[in-house]
Amino acid sequence: MYKCSKCGQEFEDDELLVKRNKKKKEWTCIDCFENEEDFYWIKLYEVVCQVNKVDKLNIRQITQLKRMKKEDKLSFVQMYYCVLYMDLVDKISSSNEKDGIGLIPYVIDESNAFWRKKWQLEDDIENLELKQKETIIKTKVTFKKEKEKHDLNFDFLEGCEDDDK
Ligand SMILES: [Zn+2]
Repeated sequence: MYKCSKCGQEFEDDELLVKRNKKKKEWTCIDCFENEEDFYWIKLYEVVCQVNKVDKLNIRQITQLKRMKKEDKLSFVQMYYCVLYMDLVDKISSSNEKDGIGLIPYVIDESNAFWRKKWQLEDDIENLELKQKETIIKTKVTFKKEKEKHDLNFDFLEGCEDDDK
């Protein structure tokens, strides 16, 4: 469990949280950010560090990312998920681009399509599971009723046997 130190909200994973304070000990959730892009800038920074196995990005990398937002009109949210996607499909290691940042504008459409499809699929599965649960509950109720009937019949038979004696 991850808990936001500002609002106290709890989360199952750290997808919607970042460590924002200087000591990087406490989590802050996305809802506690005034601006979603500020949140995703931190997420993007972290994921680029992570895929490149470094603690910090250099000025060139930071400038490159910020320029993409301005010049290529990409949002940090999109870029964050794009880096996740590139890592997932091993795009960075198989390219000549060392840190993968330069690839973002070329991969962004593919990444957006991937996530859209994935989330749609997850929604569909969730709906399906809900429907299945409903069916299971209905089946259970029917089964219980039948069992009760059966028990009743059984008692009745037992009574008959006693009468025979
Ligand atoms: Zn919060």
